[in-house]
Amino acid sequence: MRKNAIKECPDCGSKDIHRNRDKGEVTCRECGLVLEDRMIDFGQEWRSFDDDKGGDRRRTGAPSSQTSFDQGMGTEIGTTSDYYKLGGSNKDKFFRLRKWQYRISTAIERNLKVALAELKRVSSYLKLPKQVEEEAARIYRLAVQKGLVRGRSMESVVAGALYAACRRHEVPRTLDEMGEASGIEKKEIGRTYRFITRELEISIRPSNPSDYIPRFASALKLSPETQSKSVEILEQARDIELTSGRGPTGIAAAALYVASLIHGEKRTQREVADVAGVTEVTIRNRYKELIKRLNLAKDVEKMKNKK
Ligand SMILES: [Zn+2]
Repeated sequence: MRKNAIKECPDCGSKDIHRNRDKGEVTCRECGLVLEDRMIDFGQEWRSFDDDKGGDRRRTGAPSSQTSFDQGMGTEIGTTSDYYKLGGSNKDKFFRLRKWQYRISTAIERNLKVALAELKRVSSYLKLPKQVEEEAARIYRLAVQKGLVRGRSMESVVAGALYAACRRHEVPRTLDEMGEASGIEKKEIGRTYRFITRELEISIRPSNPSDYIPRFASALKLSPETQSKSVEILEQARDIELTSGRGPTGIAAAALYVASLIHGEKRTQREVADVAGVTEVTIRNRYKELIKRLNLAKDVEKMKNKK
């Protein structure tokens, strides 16, 4: 075991960390991210393939349309006129380089074209805003340039890039939603997401629980009143620091659950858990905390008695 074992999920802040010794896996029970595993990062050995400057240059480059596939190609190695200035052995080298570069760039081009089509498909399935789609494309492109796609499926990198872009734009999607849209297992998306954000040094703040409310509420067909009640509950919870150290999806779902009880629109813990992609146990625990610490028992009782 590692000396400084993970105590908190760096992604959602939850302290509910699960260790599976057999698999050598450390997982966050709240958001489902694999925080550590024995899997080899294939990305590493390919890094020398493209120098790091390439990535930085793209990052500061003009943010025109990132979703067109022919962007971000590497610089060409010389022009044909340079060839005549070279001596015998250098001429061979020149052609070898050109040939090598041609092969690489057509491969990258092909990959980008297919990947961006997939990215658009998943993005429209999830009804993501255009800026999020563009940012995801930018992240994907950087990942390709840094050779981070090696050893991973294109679809999982696309899903990971979209997940990261959603988080950055504060329109977070759950790993379950991303999994359904992309057809990739949520564990794999989380793993890829962690890998590319770490390698590309993309900083992502833990998401705000209330960012999830509108979508969870509409999936559960809850009224606007219940929805605003849940946001109110979340604000009160935040004020007494009840939201820290807990996964944002779990607490958002629990707040909705409480609000649904208060407004007489009861949903089961199972239903709420499914929509949020968390376990019923999480809902139950968060629910108990909210009821107790915010003195909400009387409000829930009041509704029960009305019936
Ligand atoms: Zn987490």
